[in-house]
Amino acid sequence: MNRVRCLVFNSALGPLDYRVPAGMSVEPGSVVLAPLGPRQIIGVVWEAERLPGTEVPDSKLRPLLQVLPVPPLPAPLRRLIEWTADYYVAPLAAVARMALSSTAALQGGGTITEYRLTGREPTRMTPQRLIALDLLHDQQATIRELSEIAGVSDGVLRGMVNAGLLEPVVVDSDRPYPPADAQFAAPDLSDEQAEVAARFVAAVEAHEFHPFLLDGVTGSGKTETYFEAVAAAIRQGRQVLVLLPEIALTETFLKRYEARFGVPPVTWHSSLKASERRRAWRAVAQGTAQVVVGARSALFLPFAQLGLIVVDEAHEISFKQDDGVRYNARDVAVMRAHFEKVPVILASATPALESLQMAEAGRYERVVLPARFGGATMPDIQIVDLRTEQPERGHWIAPPLVEALKDRLDKGEQSLLFLNRRGYAPLTLCRTCGYRFQCPNCSAWLVEHRLSRRLACHHCGHEIPPPDACPECSEPDCLVACGPGVERIADEVAAILPEARVALVTSDTLTSPAKAAEFVEMASNKAIDVIVGTQLVTKGYHFPELTLVGVIDADMGLEGGDLRAAERTYQQVAQVAGRAGRGEKPGEVLIQTRHPEAPVIEALASGDRDAFYAAEAEARRDAGAPPFGRWAAIIVSSEDEAEARDAARGIGGSAPRLDDVLILGPAPAPLSLLRGRYRYRLLINARRSTELQRVIRDWLDPLRFPPGVRVAVDIDPYSF
Ligand code: ADP
Ligand code: ZN
Repeated sequence: MNRVRCLVFNSALGPLDYRVPAGMSVEPGSVVLAPLGPRQIIGVVWEAERLPGTEVPDSKLRPLLQVLPVPPLPAPLRRLIEWTADYYVAPLAAVARMALSSTAALQGGGTITEYRLTGREPTRMTPQRLIALDLLHDQQATIRELSEIAGVSDGVLRGMVNAGLLEPVVVDSDRPYPPADAQFAAPDLSDEQAEVAARFVAAVEAHEFHPFLLDGVTGSGKTETYFEAVAAAIRQGRQVLVLLPEIALTETFLKRYEARFGVPPVTWHSSLKASERRRAWRAVAQGTAQVVVGARSALFLPFAQLGLIVVDEAHEISFKQDDGVRYNARDVAVMRAHFEKVPVILASATPALESLQMAEAGRYERVVLPARFGGATMPDIQIVDLRTEQPERGHWIAPPLVEALKDRLDKGEQSLLFLNRRGYAPLTLCRTCGYRFQCPNCSAWLVEHRLSRRLACHHCGHEIPPPDACPECSEPDCLVACGPGVERIADEVAAILPEARVALVTSDTLTSPAKAAEFVEMASNKAIDVIVGTQLVTKGYHFPELTLVGVIDADMGLEGGDLRAAERTYQQVAQVAGRAGRGEKPGEVLIQTRHPEAPVIEALASGDRDAFYAAEAEARRDAGAPPFGRWAAIIVSSEDEAEARDAARGIGGSAPRLDDVLILGPAPAPLSLLRGRYRYRLLINARRSTELQRVIRDWLDPLRFPPGVRVAVDIDPYSF
């Protein structure tokens, strides 16, 4: 009797046992199609002894239906999946699912037929065709994938093929990517860079787990340095994974990569088309994708022959996933390197305190690039005290910054103004009755966007056109914008410097890789005088003519009740300051603040990073916060407020009483209403040595909740 245990892709179910029919051959990691009731379900064969057992007798087992034509998930990836599920208290199946982008797994390799829209006008329009025409624009995929994307049946799509609306394209989904050339354009490294690169190369050649913290100031040439490690892996015939915090950065990276290695790398992110996704997934699994650049989801790709992992801008909070499986890609990357027995490089100019602490404890090797490449100097940093240097009424740029902007324009140099707030104004109210526009689905204000003429919620996407009259008191033309967003700052710049060419850079304007490329092109060719942007412009970019950076409101990030508020402010301001003076001309940074005496502002002004981190470490130690203590959150949500509250109270009522575990709440979560769900939260603080995950599992596992209630665990949460 050949019996196997499978992880099935339904997080409500545990592992299930199946019979392997005669003639079928499976091994741990095989991706299979299995029967579940009247349906079929995808699963992965797992080592039976590593999963909880099932009671079904041999005679009752149902046979597996099929082994899907993809390589089995490798053992190091299976160990990573187990670790992630265990550490983040997430269902194993939910984690395994991230490794198997469903569309990629379902399809065979080799020659397949995909379909795309022909652009022809339909003679007969149905609502479903209308949906398909809208959603499939720009797609090319199999009928099954298209039906998943558009949410219409295969039948509708076949009908569209017959009507000439969709046309077949035969593709080879295993067509190889052009090979990278490790020697294509190897740079002359500075002595410091060469020393660092040599350590990376030795580690890549040693095939051992070796975590590095690459700590180098902005403009020190970190990328060139880790590219040598990438080259070493390529020479060894091994694969490389480079994680970047956001797609917006990818454009610049791709250009540099191609200049160095002669061909573009393989990319992996959520907006890949289905056919590109399948091709990339298969090439990764077959070992033919040499270098993959991706967002955090690339972490769970089934590399056949991994040789190196790089996490660039490793301090970025966008590496933390905040829904579904709540994991931190930076930390999971280190674990993946551990299971794969390969080096991992965490690169940053402003490392997270946790990473510095790991280096101090000897767990990571810290390598330092202390100076900018090519003799460029660090920018001069000035504080603008908004209490004495007041902007004009209704304006946000104080006189010293106005003067500096004028000066740069006269000299033909570039400036960058940073404010981390999209839109025109964060709050809109009625001047007559004080009515505030709020999102109906979230506890958040609607943000005015003048460019797109909308009031929008930044949490759920709800938007309305700006009304002509107040919905409360019916007063016409009564809306007042309160506070600044980047659109308003751009308007202010246009008023101060009418002749300046101003570029607004936010996720509302850089909506595609092409737009990002266009911006980089214009800024590099001096077709822009002043860049006004959100955190999108704080990192990665290298514009040699940019000599002035203005931070509109350094206090903004300090206001929330966030454990990492000071660190994040430090990182953001240091990163944006790092855009100034990267070429031959020195840079200047003006930081507007109402709290010049705050330790983080003083540290920024004096450039004393060590003092800042020391003070921050002290504060965290006092708060029992990471890396000294551990925090976790339990978030309980429901569309029904009473139901959410009752469930949260139930959890609170059955909390374990342990000497070294402190439990706070339940209380309404910071966004107490989010996307139509009411949220309550419990916070758990424990010593570092506590087995926090076991405590939480033992606590939550026996509890049962109504079907409308969701309970999520967040280990090492970012937002407090
Ligand atoms: P970081 O990522 O540390 O901020 P970058 O890697 O962006 O720094 O490097 C800053 C600039 O210096 C880039 O324009 C890069 O191309 C250039 N640079 C760095 N190292 C070298 C080198 N060895 N040879 C030529 N140019 C270099
Ligand atoms: Zn909303």
